[in-house]
Amino acid sequence: MGQISDYAIATLGSHTALQILKGAKDEGFKTICVCQKDQARVYESYGVADELIVIDSYDQYFGVEHRLLDQKAIMIPHGSFVSYLGWERVQDIEVMHYGSKGILEWESDRVKEREWLKAAGLKLPRIFKTPEEIDCPVIIKFHGAKGGKGYFIANTTEEFYERIKDYPGEEGYVIQEYIVGVPIYSHFFYSPINDELEIMSFDKRYESNADSIGRIASKDQLDANIRTSYTITGNIPIVIRESLLPKVFEMGDNVIRESRKLTNFKDGKPLTKGLYGSFCLEAIVDPELNFNVFEISARIVAGTNPYTNGSPYTWLRYNEPMSTGRRIARDIKQAIESDRLEEVLG
Ligand code: AMP
Repeated sequence: MGQISDYAIATLGSHTALQILKGAKDEGFKTICVCQKDQARVYESYGVADELIVIDSYDQYFGVEHRLLDQKAIMIPHGSFVSYLGWERVQDIEVMHYGSKGILEWESDRVKEREWLKAAGLKLPRIFKTPEEIDCPVIIKFHGAKGGKGYFIANTTEEFYERIKDYPGEEGYVIQEYIVGVPIYSHFFYSPINDELEIMSFDKRYESNADSIGRIASKDQLDANIRTSYTITGNIPIVIRESLLPKVFEMGDNVIRESRKLTNFKDGKPLTKGLYGSFCLEAIVDPELNFNVFEISARIVAGTNPYTNGSPYTWLRYNEPMSTGRRIARDIKQAIESDRLEEVLG
């Protein structure tokens, strides 16, 4: 039987690193945090990392990877990990990687992602191929926009052309139907070890300035020429109507089933084993209670951060504090102890 003392759990110091490292420690693992100099104070202060590897910038990651390999570290990818390295470079990391690496290509490419979610039978906001087709309120999302910054809303073709003038040189964007409803981000965990899907928690984002525009009268908004933006600043916990839970389970099941049919290859070897571990469906729920899913994240999301001590849902199932970070560590622990580690590495 494998022993967890032979391994360490590592991640980059950003995003969800605090709960990943704390969860791994709670499960008995040695923990390593690779972080930039300007972030080190956080990981020192909370004491969640047994070892800190401090680098000037994430470009230097490959220069320190040997220190992770020496300690048989298992890397837990999160949003910043994928965004700093890029899904292509993630394929080149040598250290053990929790989760399917190949799936990151599917979530990083808006066209591929849509294909996957459509095949899973989810309801998606309409996409307009050209501005001339706009026949309802739309949201314009620039590719590579970090954390929702710079999106804008238009109601007509004319308005689109007027507002796009503010973004000279921006060519990569998608024009998506704007859904009037409430954002609900559903956090899941699927373990190949016990072949079970769990609903971990829900959140919504706290976005600047979208979440504060309503604090001033519409006349003042117009007078001050305020433009809506969706820059993420934090996350707010949500508990959803219990009667919506069957729908959420169903969406999670369908996404996992379809993920097993996705393929991509590197050097002739298949990269994708299908989706497992932590993932999130990001939706706007309309007044008819449809989940209009506009994105999937195929790894731990920052919306799980309010739940370092567990969520109302994980409390029901575990009766002990269970963050998503800890759930990941437990999956790895169970995999090691049943000699099935390969099944959770991608
Ligand atoms: P994203 O960067 O795609 O995660 O979107 C950032 C934010 O824009 C979300 O948190 C929502 O508040 C909002 N949003 C994105 N897509 C839509 C949509 N199709 N309809 C309404 N709001 C949206």
